[in-house]
Amino acid sequence: MQPDPVNIVVVYPKLLGLYGDRGNAAALRHRAAARGIEATVLEVAPGDPIPEQADIYLVGGAEDGSMAAAAKLLERQPGFVRAVGAGAPCLAVCAGFQLLSREYVGMDGPRPGLGLLDVTCSRLTGPRAVGEVVTRSEIDGSRLLGFENHQGDAVLGPAARPLGIVEVGRGNGHEGHEGAQQGSVIATYLHGPVLVRNPALADLLLTRAVGRELEPYLDSRVERLRRERLSAAGSLRTRLLRRA
Ligand code: GLN
Repeated sequence: MQPDPVNIVVVYPKLLGLYGDRGNAAALRHRAAARGIEATVLEVAPGDPIPEQADIYLVGGAEDGSMAAAAKLLERQPGFVRAVGAGAPCLAVCAGFQLLSREYVGMDGPRPGLGLLDVTCSRLTGPRAVGEVVTRSEIDGSRLLGFENHQGDAVLGPAARPLGIVEVGRGNGHEGHEGAQQGSVIATYLHGPVLVRNPALADLLLTRAVGRELEPYLDSRVERLRRERLSAAGSLRTRLLRRA
């Protein structure tokens, strides 16, 4: 019997789709297909209702203006908060990370977020965080790779744990943390798209969505990309390359 398709919802990619973040849906669909699992992708247009029954939600990054517009629309979508609060897997990137937090700093100062993460975001002290990032995943010890471009920071409360520990880059700007994980939410400042550069993270979301382990799938093109990006990350030691 064919398994049910995995229904992926991309929240407002026209507003929250910076740096190709909507490519996270393509990565999920590709890795699902490699296991014979069908995946559907619904890109929700700003103003349209966000379905409450999705298997995976993706919320991407944005410039401050688009982020403010998305925040207004999201306030009117309690079904999305209910679904993720009830355990639907969700990946939130950069502006998405901030919007899901308790509070973040928008164009007009501090604003309440959706409260799905016990995280408070304000502004990084010093220059904008821009560049390649390498972290050590707090989930499985693997290296998480991506690039960052943000002014927001993130301070984790007791209910949230970091997604990774920074080896190269700025991340959340506090305690060497990058991103957050809490319940079914994985949040990060990493673009790339992050699920293309980090297949283990894509598989974690898919595993949670289908409720079973997936057979291994090594994509040699992605492994090549990871090696290349690791060397681009600059202060790389040969040791990092060998263990990637
Ligand atoms: N505008 C937000 C910031 O600068 C988010 C940026 C992003 O999503 N890359 O922090």
